[in-house]
Parts: sequence; C-alpha cells; structure tokens
Amino acid sequence: MRKVKWATDYLPTANCLVKEPSKQAGNWKKLMGTDTLHIEIGCGKGNYSLDMAKMYKDTGFIAIEKNESAAGIAAKKYDEDTDDKHLKLIQDDASSIGEWFGPREVDVIHLNFSDPWPKDRHAKRRLTSKEYWARYDRILCPEGRVIFKTDNRPLFDFSLEQVEVAGWQLDNYTFDLHHSEYAEGNVMTEYEEKFSAMGNPICRMVIKPPKKK
Ligand code: SAH
Repeated sequence: MRKVKWATDYLPTANCLVKEPSKQAGNWKKLMGTDTLHIEIGCGKGNYSLDMAKMYKDTGFIAIEKNESAAGIAAKKYDEDTDDKHLKLIQDDASSIGEWFGPREVDVIHLNFSDPWPKDRHAKRRLTSKEYWARYDRILCPEGRVIFKTDNRPLFDFSLEQVEVAGWQLDNYTFDLHHSEYAEGNVMTEYEEKFSAMGNPICRMVIKPPKKK
C-alpha cells in the first residue's frame, strides 16, 4: 500500500494505540472493562474491528497491524469514531503475539484476508501455518475460536490442512460464505467488499483449539 506520510507522526499520539502490549499481558480485560476479548490480526485500514466494536459493546477488541500506513489510518478512524476504550490497536508484527497476551486470555481471533505468502519457503509466515496455530493455542481460552476469511482458495486449502496437522478441530467451514447459512450477521472487511464485488466467493472457517489438559 502507498505510504501515508502523516501516519508516522500521528500513531505515537493516538489514543487507541497500545505502545507496549507485553506490559498488558493478562490484564487486557481489566484495561478494556470487558469480560470477553477478541483480537484481529492484520486489520488493514481497520473497518472490521471498528464495526464489530460498535455492534458488540460488551466485548473488547484489539486490532493488530504491522504496516505503519494502514495502522495510522485505522488509528485515526478509531480515535474519531469511538470514544470507547473497548477498541485498541497494536502496531507491530503478530509473530510476537505470544508475549502480548497471557495464557487463555483471548476468546476469539479473527483473521481476515491474511497475506498469502505464496512461496513454499515463506509458508511459516502465513498466519494460518502450524507455527501460528501453536501461538494461538497458548493464548486462546479452552472454548475459544479462530475465524478465518479469505477469497484465496490455495491459502484456504493450505489452512485446512494445517488445522489438521496442528490437531485443531473444524467447527464449521464454507467455500461461499455470502451464499451460505452463515451469511447473516457477517461483517464485511475492506478486502471482502472489493473481492466479492469482483465475483470472488469468500471462504470462511471457524476452528476450535485442541482439548486443553
Ligand atoms: N483485514 C483487512 C486487510 C487485509 S490485507 C481486510 O480484510 O480488508 C492483510 C493485512 O495484514 C495487511 O495490512 C498486512 O500488513 C497485515 N499483516 C500481514 N501479516 C501481519 C503480521 N504478521 N502482523 C501484523 N499484521 C500483518
């Protein structure tokens, strides 16, 4: 995406930005005043978490985005559109996610239109690789879920495979969300609007972690 010049100056001043997320590990629900915690990894320009936070006022949402320009746009939206403290932003690479949240602290992880990293040697960077399932397993509560949407069928098929390798269980999945029984109540992301307008079917899976001991 094109560089957004004001993002560098704006981000450090943003109300919604949590600068040292590892200091909040284990404390997020208290910080946000909620009993439930959802996180979105790779929020882009941020519409999905904002719309969700407006719909679900009793749930804490943390949007994570590594790209400074996208995070800057999201941060500005969050600061202007909601004075609620139940929507926060982390601007960093999610590979450190295990340091930011305590064990079993998170209820739901949302992955929307994650980068495909099509080369085999980059498979570990995919947010649905078995390396990431291990990170998610640690921070998710036993009843937790990961919800993943994409229009990229090869990435979706890879993810279905990795779910099995990692010992996770499929709760449900569809290769065409918008024409499925799960369409109702679906909140669209920026990419989802763009790609579904081009006629691409949207795949979605809901995954449960392995049974905890
Ligand atoms: N979820 C948005 C944007 C999808 S593009 C939408 O559906 O419209 C994928 C986004 O994920 C990009 O903005 C990219 O910078 C971000 N991203 C990819 N890998 C990431 C990682 N490891 N940590 C944080 N953000 C990541």
